[in-house]
Amino acid sequence: MALAYNWQIGRSMSYWYPENRPKRQFAAVFDINKCIACQTCTLACKTTWTSGKGQEYMLWNNVESKPFGCYPLAWDLNLLQQLGAQQWRGKEYAGRTIFEAAEAGERVLGWRPADLDYAYPNVGEDDCTGRVDRGAALRAPHLNWFFYLARICNHCTYPACLASCPRGSIYKRPEDGIVLVDQSRCRGYRECVKACPYKKVFYNALTGTSEKCIACFPKIEQGLQPQCFVNCIGKIRLAGWLSPPERARADNPLDYLVHIRKVALPLLPQLGLEPNVYYIPPVHAPDEFLSQLFGPGVPAAICTYRKGPDDPDLAGLLGLFGSTDRVVPRWRREDDWVAALDEDGSQIVRVPLKEPVYIREAFDAQHQVTRTNCP
Ligand code: SF4
Ligand code: SF4
Repeated sequence: MALAYNWQIGRSMSYWYPENRPKRQFAAVFDINKCIACQTCTLACKTTWTSGKGQEYMLWNNVESKPFGCYPLAWDLNLLQQLGAQQWRGKEYAGRTIFEAAEAGERVLGWRPADLDYAYPNVGEDDCTGRVDRGAALRAPHLNWFFYLARICNHCTYPACLASCPRGSIYKRPEDGIVLVDQSRCRGYRECVKACPYKKVFYNALTGTSEKCIACFPKIEQGLQPQCFVNCIGKIRLAGWLSPPERARADNPLDYLVHIRKVALPLLPQLGLEPNVYYIPPVHAPDEFLSQLFGPGVPAAICTYRKGPDDPDLAGLLGLFGSTDRVVPRWRREDDWVAALDEDGSQIVRVPLKEPVYIREAFDAQHQVTRTNCP
């Protein structure tokens, strides 16, 4: 084991390999407040990458209703229970990561889902009562909230899948930090399936290999956002590049949201993987639950987000989500407009801070018709 610095937990931790950050890191921000669980992202991925034989239960992108939704079943609860207490001392995590909690002879603390755990992708959907299936129930209070958590592979800085592979079949690309499984090396031992705490590696029984989200790397290489991003109906997603905190730039949209405004937070940072998908937490769910999911930054992130309407920079940048199919490396606000920029500063797209509203006449004189869709 080596010592590696993980800024999300504010300290160094044990990891199987020494710290080796890529030249730049693919990353994303998801604004949970805007997700409507339409599952268009899920289908966009399914129809692009996982429509083959043996991939029937693979959802490289899935959207689950929290707190009762989970795919595969109990992916989060099982591990959190095994890990035990997860205390934070301010911004420093005082508990053990899954690398530090691994038993002797193991590289990662993990568990492998059973086949049946993959059988209910929509369990708990739109549910705040805890009913699970066929009358089964979680013992939980009836809640007056739930929210949608869209999940893909986090292309972690310290991937558990990569650390656990005895064949060295999983690698993190130095040019963009995307984590891939070399299909020609993989022998299907499924150590990665067991190790990934987010359960984002899937075993294909037909090919005998493990498969996972590839961040649509053929699109990324052309400067385009992945399929689940550009097809998102709620416009909740923005793909880009994230710098380490000490190199954060205000004109990089992801750095701005994650490091400068600290409004977007990692999923289960206490596990120690430094995941690279960041979430703007939902404003209507209790802090206690959200803090276990997204760490101690939740109250401040929600406070900042709530002030968005009076914060033209933040509101403007959030307006760029879903406005272009290109990856957005830079951005700039000018008065009531915000622009997505390329690396060289050239404009990709420009959107107004406030959408103009046009009120149409009830009677359309040109076509001599009364519209029924307006008063
Ligand atoms: S989310 Fe899982 S599959 Fe993706 S890089 Fe991290 S450990 Fe690997
Ligand atoms: S397409 Fe967007 S809005 Fe629809 S479920 Fe996926 S993330 Fe949510």
